[in-house]
Formats: sequence, structure tokens, C-alpha cells
Amino acid sequence: MANSRFGYVRSFEQPDTLLPNTYVVVRIDGKGFTKLTAKYNFVKPNDTRGLGLMNAAAEAVMKELPDLVLAYGQSDEYSFVFPKDCQLFERRASKLTTLIVSVFTANYVFAWSSYFPDTPLTPPLPSFDGRAVCYPSELNLRDYLSWRQVDCHINNLFNTTFWALVQQGGMERRAAEQELSGTVAADKNEILFSRFGINYNNEPEIFKKGTVLYRDLSPASTLPPTTTPAKTVQSPLPPLSHPQPKKLLPRPMSQPLHSTYPSLFQD
Ligand code: ATP
Ligand code: ATP
Ligand code: MG
Ligand code: MG
Ligand code: MG
Ligand code: MG
Repeated sequence: MANSRFGYVRSFEQPDTLLPNTYVVVRIDGKGFTKLTAKYNFVKPNDTRGLGLMNAAAEAVMKELPDLVLAYGQSDEYSFVFPKDCQLFERRASKLTTLIVSVFTANYVFAWSSYFPDTPLTPPLPSFDGRAVCYPSELNLRDYLSWRQVDCHINNLFNTTFWALVQQGGMERRAAEQELSGTVAADKNEILFSRFGINYNNEPEIFKKGTVLYRDLSPASTLPPTTTPAKTVQSPLPPLSHPQPKKLLPRPMSQPLHSTYPSLFQD
């Protein structure tokens, strides 16, 4: 087949190799999750079952793709980080992105019933889009992660205030939106505190900051091999440089995964 007279059509395929020696970040995002979360009656502003399901799907991706070293998730999105020296699929963007999107989506759907046992999925089923972006320096990568975490923070502060006005304040959504238009962070903190007795600082870390999953690459973690599932630890973000010597590749699947909720940006 490969040498048939039709084989020339392969030359129509465009190369999409990502720049060498750069961090590759694949970000996936749920399609129409505003609608989907309404359809399945997600708790607003933050349904912990939904976040748990996103984290479970991301953990499955990390386990299936041992090249991944770090992932950051919030709301209906997850960013997956490949190290600079990654050679998976010759760094072809479409291969990396589509594989992550499909492994993530398959696991999201597979694990749905564990998180929403009383709410079966019906078509249209959850789906995700994805893109791959290269970041040349560690600073660029940190800034990327900070950018996503700032997005989480800003949206969460808005959503927390908005839903307090609606759910506890009995306001119409339209009116709550108007009340919040033009407000800055300090105004929202003030509304939350003075009208609803909510101290935003005391909101759960996972709501305010999102979740970081990282592979423990310290030599001790690979000996002895363990199949322990991801642990939740409260520790600072490890250095983003790739500390493993080349000869240890491919990385064993047994390295434990951790999740944590560190601050990725300074106010
Ligand atoms: P698009 O297809 O363009 O991404 P979208 O509706 O998914 O459209 P996003 O900007 O991705 O738009 O927003 C995600 C939506 O999903 C937001 O409305 C957010 O509040 C909601 N959402 C995501 N996760 C949760 C959760 N765990 N609990 C409650 N709502 C959630
Ligand atoms: P890669 O990840 O590189 O695509 P692969 O194992 O999927 O690896 P393919 O070239 O895509 O390799 O080949 C698909 C394989 O799946 C073949 O071995 C094919 O025989 C098998 N396969 C696909 N569909 C069926 C089917 N309906 N019944 C039996 N075997 C199937
Ligand atoms: Mg989107
Ligand atoms: Mg979305
Ligand atoms: Mg989103
Ligand atoms: Mg195949």
C-alpha cells in the first residue's frame, strides 16, 4: 500500500514539528462547559466533583505519557508540560495535542460516573479542544503558569462574589452582573466580607489557585518501584528545570505523582 500510485498524497501533509529545545505546553479546554455545567447542575461557583474529575483525567494523562513532568489545571482547562528535551512523536504538534486531548477526554468520560454517580452522561458528550505552544525559557514557562493561575484567581473572585449575590443575596443574575461591573478586586472582597461574612482568603486553595500535578523526579522516588497513586502534598513548586540525566530515559511509569496548590504568581 505504501508504494501504491496513491502514495504521493502524503506529500500534501504539512510538517508541524515544534521548535527544538523549548518547553512544550499543551493546554486543553472543555467545549461549552458553561452549558455543560448547567445541564448537569454543577454546584456554582465551584463543584468539587467537577474539579476532582478534571484532576483524575489529568492524572491518567500523566500516567499514560511518562514524558510529561508537570500539569496545571483550573476550571475546565488543563495545561500539560513537556520538558525541553522531549522527543515524543518527533515533537509533532498535532500528534502531541490530539493524543493528550483524546486520552484526557476518554478518561473524563470513563471516570464521570465515579464523580457524578446519580447523573448519567447523555449526548452531546463532554469534549475538549487543545493547542501546543513552545516556551523557550524557564521564566517564560513560569510566566505562562502564572498567567493561567491569575486567570483562575480573577475568575474565582468574580464567580464567588457573583454567586454570593445570587444565592445568598437573592439577586437576579442580571442585577448581580450589573452590581459587579466596574468593580476591582478590593470591591469584591469588601462585598463578600461586609454583606456575606465571607473572607475570600479562607476559600479553599483549590478554588483560588487551581491544581498542580508534578512527577517526582528525585532519585529516591524511583527506588523501590511503587504503584502508589498520586499523593496530595502541600509543598512548594519544585524547580522547573529537567533534573534527570538523559540515560534514565524513558522515565519509568512508577514515579509517583503529586498534586499541590502553590502560588505561581506574586500579587
Ligand atoms: P468554550 O467552549 O469557548 O471554552 P466554555 O463555556 O467552556 O466555552 P470557558 O471560558 O472555558 O467557556 O469557561 C468554563 C465554564 O465552565 C465557566 O462557566 C466555569 O464557571 C464552568 N466550570 C468549569 N468547571 C467548573 C466547576 N468545577 N464547577 C462549576 N463550574 C465550572
Ligand atoms: P500507532 O499508535 O503507531 O498508530 P497502532 O498499533 O495503532 O500503532 P496502526 O498502523 O494504526 O498501528 O494499526 C492499527 C492496528 O489495529 C493494526 O494492527 C490493525 O490490524 C488493528 N485493527 C484496527 N482495527 C481493527 C479491527 N476492526 N479488527 C481487528 N484489528 C484491527
Ligand atoms: Mg475554549
Ligand atoms: Mg471551555
Ligand atoms: Mg475554560
Ligand atoms: Mg494506530
